[in-house]
Amino acid sequence: MGFIQDISPILKKTELTFLERYREAKEVYTFIFEKETDINWKAGQHGVFSIIHKKISKPTRPFSVASAPEENMVKITMNIGDHPSEFKQAMLDLTPGMKISMRGPIGPLYLDERNPSLLIAGGIGITPFRSVLKQIELAQKEIANPITLLYTDSNKSYIYKNELDEIAKNPPIIIRYLDSRDDLYREINSFTTMYQEKGIYYLAGKKSMVDSVSTYLKSQNISKRNIKKDVFVGYK
Ligand SMILES: Cc1cc2nc3c(=O)[nH]c(=O)nc-3n(C[C@H](O)[C@H](O)[C@H](O)COP(=O)(O)OP(=O)(O)OC[C@H]3O[C@@H](n4cnc5c(N)ncnc54)[C@H](O)[C@@H]3O)c2cc1C
Repeated sequence: MGFIQDISPILKKTELTFLERYREAKEVYTFIFEKETDINWKAGQHGVFSIIHKKISKPTRPFSVASAPEENMVKITMNIGDHPSEFKQAMLDLTPGMKISMRGPIGPLYLDERNPSLLIAGGIGITPFRSVLKQIELAQKEIANPITLLYTDSNKSYIYKNELDEIAKNPPIIIRYLDSRDDLYREINSFTTMYQEKGIYYLAGKKSMVDSVSTYLKSQNISKRNIKKDVFVGYK
């Protein structure tokens, strides 16, 4: 897909029916919506979601779709602390049967299976990669090239861990749970040493993390072309 194909689904607006929510961790919630038959996305893409059940001042936010296209639902997962924004309070106020609107999904964070892939998630940035890995598991496709997920979280609060561990039983998927920048760069180095310019790097998380890892990769002579990223704006 090219740039235009990656963003043109933004024109398509769908109303999704809320089914349920549950907690993944102390301040992390997952919301499940019914999957309308006419929605299609590539694992790793994000939707642009708008609150429509009440009037709020900034009703729209992007969220990665954490479910795989083969799963029969749209799942989004987000941090919600003690003092939620108006948007997130409205999310918590949803009751089954209510609607939310979604544009897309769009974006470039889907896998190019022709190359070895290094997925790098900072905290809540794991959401697109759950979709990517779950899709591989459900589609039972032969994957010719290695896929490594580096999941870094300084609080060691690794959401989806049980599911990810199940998925990682299938080679060639490898998952490393990390909690320090040093370990992260060590793992990146071992991947870049092995695959050099053949590797494609996928980054998701807050801006400071994505920027610093992207700068590090470029300092290791990884071409900008081989780095795909989703910056989760809105997180410091
Ligand atoms: C592609 C993409 C995928 C994302 N996926 C997820 C996900 O899966 N899970 C998740 O929890 N979050 C995700 N986000 C972030 C999400 O959209 C929200 O911004 C975030 O959850 C914070 O929302 P909030 O309502 O708590 O805070 P907000 O009230 O939106 O904002 C918190 C602070 O950030 C500032 N801010 C907000 N938007 C911007 C902006 N565009 N540029 C600069 N500053 C800004 C605000 O001014 C405020 O100070 C994603 C973002 C992008 C772009």
